[in-house]
Amino acid sequence: MANQASTKSASRRSSSAKRSSGPRTVIRNARLATDAGLGPSVDVYVRGAVIEGFDLGGAVDREHDAGGNLLTPAFIDLHTHLRDPGQEVKEDLTSGLSAAAAGGFGTVVSMANTAPVIDDAGLVADLVRRSELIGQARLRPAATVSVGLAGERLTDFAALKEAGAVMLTDDGIPLVDSHLMRRACEYAAELGLVIQTHSEEPALRNAGVMNEGAVSRALGLPGNPASAEAVMVFRDAEIARMTGARVHIAHVSSQRAMRVAQWLRADGAPITVEVTPQHLTLTDEALRGFDPVFKVAPPLRTAADVAYLRETVRAGLVDNIGTDHAPHTRAEKERDLLEAPFGIASLEVSFALLYSELVETGELPLAHLLHLLQAGPAGVMGWQAPVLEPGAPADLTVLDLTTAREVRGQRFKSKAKHNPWEGRLLRGWPRLTMVRGEACFVAEA
Ligand SMILES: [Zn+2]
Repeated sequence: MANQASTKSASRRSSSAKRSSGPRTVIRNARLATDAGLGPSVDVYVRGAVIEGFDLGGAVDREHDAGGNLLTPAFIDLHTHLRDPGQEVKEDLTSGLSAAAAGGFGTVVSMANTAPVIDDAGLVADLVRRSELIGQARLRPAATVSVGLAGERLTDFAALKEAGAVMLTDDGIPLVDSHLMRRACEYAAELGLVIQTHSEEPALRNAGVMNEGAVSRALGLPGNPASAEAVMVFRDAEIARMTGARVHIAHVSSQRAMRVAQWLRADGAPITVEVTPQHLTLTDEALRGFDPVFKVAPPLRTAADVAYLRETVRAGLVDNIGTDHAPHTRAEKERDLLEAPFGIASLEVSFALLYSELVETGELPLAHLLHLLQAGPAGVMGWQAPVLEPGAPADLTVLDLTTAREVRGQRFKSKAKHNPWEGRLLRGWPRLTMVRGEACFVAEA
């Protein structure tokens, strides 16, 4: 588990902290996570874009009060759909990156299934440039594996990496051609890039709009069997093993797929595994009302699947929680269940949901949940784990673990207000999120 208050490399970084310039900010009355819970209150000093130190005193330009709440490194989401360019009616960079900050995220990896799709270095560079002007959460773009998401020809991985792409994924559409997957893995391995898969076998998924099982049969709705996911996880993990490529299996939703992933990982496949807040907290029973707000791919599974995913998380076999924030317009999500698009908007509710359902109930230690949103995703990408120490980036979030508040989509920064948890009373809401030393989200009182 990540030690939030690690200071082991503080001396190495103190020289860079001294060199940093910019406004000096203090966050007073912050409590850091320790192995035993929350530590005593400290004042965290930020100079420019980096942490300067703790309880330093002296003049400051700006001041925030954490109110005795937890202060921790801002989260990393490896799975965010920002819909920009081309689908700004659903979300755009400003609304999406603001939603990320409001959810406690300091960095998001944006998915590439936009319009046009991100399969070209110029488009990657444009995303990087525009996101930096916005000054909310950091955007690290993913690019597609295949040109036009068509699953036929590989994109120019080297040029995409050079332009700033950090991950290759056709997420949203499974990569069907196994030979193309093999060549993608070989190419990515050479460049040290992570390939993320959307592992569902399309022919087996067929026209399924929800999990295939007792509920889909009772409702008379076309089902998508867990086997569609398990079959493709097997193929993707086996090709990772064969090629040595780093393959990240996105949003594993079912017991069968998770068991396959863990078996191949134990057998040497260099894979990592992601789960989502929705697959950890909702079941296919939610579809009984025919409400498309619960329609997502892969689908919400059974209570037994949720229990197994949670067990795998507790056992330390899951690398990260990715939101798979997938915004759509209300009109789209109010269509008939068969017609409505797949996707749940979850950036702003994810931490409170996971904290309330997993940590408050005693199922998972707080440090473990934080790990799945900080060092876990950083490790998947080969990035340095976020830490609180002098010289480290001042990407921070303050989380209120005590005040219960209802989920209110209308308060979301995201354009997608429609969400499955509306009205739920949760704790763990972000109070303040700082990115590059700038407070980009401050909760209303
Ligand atoms: Zn996906």
